[in-house]
Amino acid sequence: MNIAFIGLGNMGMPMAKNLVKAGHSVRVFDLVDSAMAALESEGAERASSALEAAGGADVVISMLPAGQHVRGLYLGRGEAPGLLDDLASRPLIIDASTISPQDAQAVGSAAAERGFTFLDAPVSGGIGGAEAGTLTFIVGGDSAGFEQARPVLEVMGKNLFHAGAAGSGQIAKICNNMLLGILMSGTAEALALGVRNGLDPAVLSEIMKQSSGGNWALNVYNPWPGVMEGSAASREYQGGFLTDLMAKDLGLAWELALASKAPVPMGSEARNLFALHSAQGSGGLDFSSIQKLYRAKDE
Ligand code: NAD
Repeated sequence: MNIAFIGLGNMGMPMAKNLVKAGHSVRVFDLVDSAMAALESEGAERASSALEAAGGADVVISMLPAGQHVRGLYLGRGEAPGLLDDLASRPLIIDASTISPQDAQAVGSAAAERGFTFLDAPVSGGIGGAEAGTLTFIVGGDSAGFEQARPVLEVMGKNLFHAGAAGSGQIAKICNNMLLGILMSGTAEALALGVRNGLDPAVLSEIMKQSSGGNWALNVYNPWPGVMEGSAASREYQGGFLTDLMAKDLGLAWELALASKAPVPMGSEARNLFALHSAQGSGGLDFSSIQKLYRAKDE
């Protein structure tokens, strides 16, 4: 297949590489020249604009930072037209960025009006999942589009979910990440309370894992340094899923809650905690570093 890939950052780069490795003809565009050069050396073709990358493609995939970038790419910015108005052909469009459901629906309905099939397909699994081709795709859009996308998504991901109509992928992803933010900060809080009162964090972690407090953070992503080999906490919170990205996703959950008048007291608390943590200079650390907020300097 001819695939256009736009946005070659931490996630997009390994996803696009996997498409090249699978034998697809991939044309790439990013604002950063070195990112395109890296993909070129893997066998992709570099384009001088998003429009050039997408021209003649069967599928267009975007992996951009936030809603404003996705809207800009497809709907245009100021005087500059977007892909939806510029493209002569009608490729399948898959946006894998994490953005608000409102932005996904706005781009999705503009796409449908012009005869495109558009899917919102945010991912879970992080940079490791992107590199290994084991991402989870959470897709919103019509069923026919989902089936059309399946062979391409299966190259980059292991689990594919069709969450519902346009925007549903983003809603499901935001609900999941809000729960993750709550679980990680709650786990950090419980560990800090135990350690402050004389417990060994590894012993306490094992007890809670086997008891009713067990959860994903304890099982695979323990936030206390040294408890789990290979965890972000055990490498000074370098790499992984950044605090700033978690803060962004919790902000999206908060906006969604406001728009739908849904109460999210725990999600709001988690948003404030991660925003505070970021403001204290930890935005570029893995999100499990929220543990630092609760620890005394000598613990
Ligand atoms: P990133 O900032 O590393 O990469 C974004 C890339 O998009 C950059 O290379 C940037 O130059 C490029 N870009 C921005 N505007 C562009 C434009 N108009 N045209 C072409 N290229 C443009 O971000 P990332 O970590 O790759 O994340 C991408 C998306 O995936 C985000 O929405 C993020 O929330 C989501 N996500 C990230 C992770 C993670 O662990 N990093 C996990 C799941 C989901």
